[in-house]
Amino acid sequence: MQWILGAGAAASATLFFTYASKSPSSQLFGATFVSGVDPNQVALTYDDGPNDPYTFQLLELLEKHQAKATFFVVGKFVKKRPDIVRAIADAGHALGNHTFSHPNLTYVSMEKLRREIEDTEAAIADATGRRSTLFRPPFGARRPGIFGEVRRLGMIPTMWSVTTRDWKYNNTDEIERHTVSQLSNHTDKRGDVILLHDGDHLAMGADRSRSVEITERLLLRFKNEGRECVTVPTMMKELVS
Ligand SMILES: [Zn+2]
Repeated sequence: MQWILGAGAAASATLFFTYASKSPSSQLFGATFVSGVDPNQVALTYDDGPNDPYTFQLLELLEKHQAKATFFVVGKFVKKRPDIVRAIADAGHALGNHTFSHPNLTYVSMEKLRREIEDTEAAIADATGRRSTLFRPPFGARRPGIFGEVRRLGMIPTMWSVTTRDWKYNNTDEIERHTVSQLSNHTDKRGDVILLHDGDHLAMGADRSRSVEITERLLLRFKNEGRECVTVPTMMKELVS
């Protein structure tokens, strides 16, 4: 996988083990997609859905701005609302696997990991007729061997380069400040992958109105800057070409 990017940190493996096991840019445990190479591209990514009505609100907003995004769905919610997942796929957005029950992978067996991934793939396939090729670990947590297994199952581990903390801050201005401070500029030669949430892994029905608001602000910002919002698979194509 020669196209995978990210700073190699093997030399610091011992010192930074704890940090690295959760850092999205860590490449310690194998090839992982973190960001693209074209600064004119941005990938908005949404975790923990589907979640009514916020996923639908996002789909509307994305359509209005002719933007594409990637949704890392939780299998147990896909089973409850396959119609939302079908709507995501029908609109041309990408789907990724975010496990079935959202466990912290630091503590699960390989067998449980496989079941989590395969049950989610089955739910996505039932809803859309297709499988996904992307995987994102819950809480960004992992341990050695996990991503190797994910790749053996035919999926690409996908992290992010920008966090919004949309699940943490209570107002959109704060989310925007936190997000904008991490966005790349053109000299970085990086296509940002932005972590957002359309749901909450604990239960469906979580209020994600601020995630919708920050999405609208980001879409306007990127339009002004001439950056195109693309899916993660589209961003990856730039790396192989
Ligand atoms: Zn999650």
